[in-house]
Amino acid sequence: MATSKMASCIFCKIIQGEIPCFKLFESDKTLAFLDINPLSKGHALVIPKFHGEKLTDIPDDYLTDILPIAKKLVVATGAKEYNILQNNGRGAHQEVGHVHFHMIPKPNEQEGLGIGWPQQKTDMDKLKAYFEEIKSKV
Ligand code: AMP
Repeated sequence: MATSKMASCIFCKIIQGEIPCFKLFESDKTLAFLDINPLSKGHALVIPKFHGEKLTDIPDDYLTDILPIAKKLVVATGAKEYNILQNNGRGAHQEVGHVHFHMIPKPNEQEGLGIGWPQQKTDMDKLKAYFEEIKSKV
């Protein structure tokens, strides 16, 4: 198995079969299972079989496996509206320090993901300067 295991990581333990999960799908690089405290019926997690805390810690070949599997979960649950969410860092609402993608069905206003969207006013000069700066680093 291609797992880089961290002894204290709950998701590494799930990958290793040391603690149980409601496994939905597995490939050599990825595992998908139901979230134990769902925001809605069908809320599931897709995780790389590689321990890394944030997106930038995960090799690209693990990441490319993930979205097609999230797509399978959407189809399997029959979700018509849904969010794909991946949190990085405590301040960004990450509780488990092993990269995971949420697939969260949004069946109605009450269930599923609720989000704030604090849009800021656009200063076009600042936006253009930032665009030039970041474009040169991509
Ligand atoms: P996050 O806030 O993005 O780190 O989300 C972590 C998610 O992992 C939460 O939705 C938890 O309900 C879920 N979770 C934590 N432990 C388990 C577990 N043993 N099995 C399934 N889901 C879990």
